[in-house]
Amino acid sequence: MKSTIDNFSEIREAVRALCAQFPDEYHRKIDEEKGYPEEFVDALTHAGWLAAMIPEEYGGSGLGLAEATVVMEEINRSGGNAGACHGQMYNMGTLLRHGSKAQKELYLPKIASGEWRLQSMGVTEPTAGTDTTKIRTTAVKKGDKYVVNGQKVWISRIQHSDWMILLARTTPLAEVHKKSEGMSIFMVDVKEAVKHGMTVRPIPNMVNHETNELFFENLEIPEENLIGEEGKGFKYILDGLNAERTLIAAECIGDGYWFMDRAVKYANDRVVFGRPIGQNQGVQFPLAESFVEIEAANLMRFRACELFDAHQKCGAEANMAKYLAAKASWEAANACLQTHGGFGFANEYDIERKFRETRLYQVAPISTNLILSYVSEHLLGLPRSF
Ligand SMILES: Cc1cc2nc3c(=O)[nH]c(=O)nc-3n(C[C@H](O)[C@H](O)[C@H](O)COP(=O)(O)OP(=O)(O)OC[C@H]3O[C@@H](n4cnc5c(N)ncnc54)[C@H](O)[C@@H]3O)c2cc1C
Repeated sequence: MKSTIDNFSEIREAVRALCAQFPDEYHRKIDEEKGYPEEFVDALTHAGWLAAMIPEEYGGSGLGLAEATVVMEEINRSGGNAGACHGQMYNMGTLLRHGSKAQKELYLPKIASGEWRLQSMGVTEPTAGTDTTKIRTTAVKKGDKYVVNGQKVWISRIQHSDWMILLARTTPLAEVHKKSEGMSIFMVDVKEAVKHGMTVRPIPNMVNHETNELFFENLEIPEENLIGEEGKGFKYILDGLNAERTLIAAECIGDGYWFMDRAVKYANDRVVFGRPIGQNQGVQFPLAESFVEIEAANLMRFRACELFDAHQKCGAEANMAKYLAAKASWEAANACLQTHGGFGFANEYDIERKFRETRLYQVAPISTNLILSYVSEHLLGLPRSF
């Protein structure tokens, strides 16, 4: 099954060749064991794919968002799950855009070489939820350190990351002019933090997605780990979201094509009532509809990339790409499962695994409602609802 959008063939072929060394059985076993695909992530790192967007002067390949999204898409299209390692693709952007020269020189080459992983970003809190400006985790300056107290939830890949970008309040909400002010971001050395005030509690969940609750009790962070200016952290986090949304849209698109490939093959092969089930329009149409929707999402994804790579505003396009892609991959998952009948539920077909994995993206990293709210306010000019 071929997309009408045919581009970046060299990158696609190279990533596909790497992914082919990690067949369905590999990803299925990792899922069953609730493990982490160490060998797969190592192979991607050593081939340089996870450093795609790090500039060449820091040891990366200096590619654009478009190329980076193709890498993520191909991972998911091959049957893998880029959720195990996508954090690094967008987290390093925060450092690149807002870090000092010394910070960039310290972190980026080691991230590019694979010596350090920057896979984690700690934003979400149990009481604030999507209303990020209400976070309660505080970082209070004492001498040459910040002392952190509070709690985070759903913080992914912490056990497979050397560094985490942490958002904390440095000025109390009551003392700022705008609620988006007074928050700051820090580089947290994960291994040091677990010895000195950060407790990690894994959250068992529906997907094999390593994610955790974090508790901070007087965790000390050196002042040189503050990224950019104190109080501007929320703005810095927002700056990175367009890349994150577009990368995740591409993963959904990869999932969508994977579901289509499997469904079309099965619909052609499976014979019931003396003919392939795919000859029935009741089986064909949900697949055709999904294909149309994935293709449309893909166009919006490349539009977002084009604007991002030209340093133009792309908030609307990135949000719409994420919305369309997450919806299309979920519809494709449903149609693929239905096409397989009972066999769709058998672990050995991998459909139930990918079905669970792709469902996440209507909730995280931003829920569908919040995207629709953005579109209502910023594109339609309707009153802000919160
Ligand atoms: C597996 C997983 C991994 C994650 N990884 C990370 C991570 O690494 N780092 C991190 O910081 N966070 C992470 N998250 C958190 C994720 O970003 C949030 O779960 C997500 O943004 C939704 O926030 P919430 O769960 O607090 O939902 P809530 O804010 O409690 O919202 C619940 C529901 O209500 C809806 N809702 C809320 N307010 C409104 C409104 N005003 N209008 C309409 N609808 C509304 C939402 O759309 C949602 O459907 C992860 C989550 C999961 C499940």
